[in-house]
Amino acid sequence: MKIFKELNSRGHEQLSFFNDPYSGLKGIVAIHNTTLGPALGGCRMWNYKTEEEAIIDVLRLSKGMTYKASIAGLNLGGGKAVIIGNPKKDKTEKLFRSFGRFVEGLNGRYITAEDVGTNIQDMENVKIETSYVTGISKSLGGSGDPSPVTAFGVYMGIKASVKEKLNKNSLKGLKISVQGLGHVGSHLVSYLYKDGAELYITDIDKNRVDFILNKYECTYVKPENIILQDVDIYAPCALGATVNSETIPQLKCKIIAGAANNILHDPLKNSKLLEKNNILYAPDYVINAGGLINVANELEGYDKEKAFNSAEKIYDTLMGIFERAKKESITTHSAAALQAEDRIKKIATLKSFYLPYKKTFKIRND
Ligand code: NAD
Repeated sequence: MKIFKELNSRGHEQLSFFNDPYSGLKGIVAIHNTTLGPALGGCRMWNYKTEEEAIIDVLRLSKGMTYKASIAGLNLGGGKAVIIGNPKKDKTEKLFRSFGRFVEGLNGRYITAEDVGTNIQDMENVKIETSYVTGISKSLGGSGDPSPVTAFGVYMGIKASVKEKLNKNSLKGLKISVQGLGHVGSHLVSYLYKDGAELYITDIDKNRVDFILNKYECTYVKPENIILQDVDIYAPCALGATVNSETIPQLKCKIIAGAANNILHDPLKNSKLLEKNNILYAPDYVINAGGLINVANELEGYDKEKAFNSAEKIYDTLMGIFERAKKESITTHSAAALQAEDRIKKIATLKSFYLPYKKTFKIRND
């Protein structure tokens, strides 16, 4: 693998490898861009088949974080970490403390958080060694579970999409299918229900379905049928890649707006096909930014009200993206990417592009 060629093609600033024979840690941190501030992104633990697979994953994910932070208006850059290992077997306090020391060594250029394969407990072990960690429990001064803020942001995004596509200010009487009733999906259902939407829900976990059916009047749909429902809005809140070249021709919805990461299997191709089929797509990293907004808020001393207020702005951000997409005759996916890049370029011309991050934990407010 030609590392520098990979870094150049994706625009990365830094790739750091960490090896600790005593804890067994094999970790990689990728810092994509720190123009807006320190690079923030979760630490994924995964049993990668090859080192190359781990490198590609951390490069891809860290670049995504640059765009997500930029479009959310945060003064943060994009970064990500991966630990090569089996999260079910290889986790120890020693391993995460070791990872924490390496993060500390990056001197604030990268701030970590939980991700797939890691949890709050792991981050608390990281915190023993470094303050450059976020998304920890309330008892340790953190913000706790980000899902309520994520769900609120998704709700705002759905409202913006409805305004754009159907010119309505309310969700009353609109049919919405929700796939996945976990942390985000269950909170989202409560917002949609209160607004008078007609809900079609599913989950592969029967307990989650029963929990929701006991609380709200909704129609249960088998997991394999949820995407085929004749609804106004499809809200994927479980897996990625549910929207792909096979499923798009079967979709009957007018809007796709949900919390799941990587909703589109092939973003460029699929977003064009959605547009052709007259389906409005709310870009995933824009509409689900509430989680990032929440952990970013923690860095300044957690203020729940402020976090919700910031997530509310997802409405305006999406309206801006829809407007740009129409004006420039591009997909909403491309409009979101351009919007995120524009903000970075604007700051980068004021300062040097890859300026070294100041030795301070505070997010810059300039
Ligand atoms: P979660 O694990 O709590 O919930 C996911 C739910 O989806 C589970 O109840 C699971 O049983 C269900 N599910 C899995 N496969 C399914 C299938 N094939 N059909 C129907 N249901 C299925 O996860 P979450 O925290 O609610 O996150 C949901 C999605 O939103 C994920 O893609 C996540 O990456 C994304 N996201 C979450 C946050 C957050 O703050 N939690 C922030 C940004 C993005």
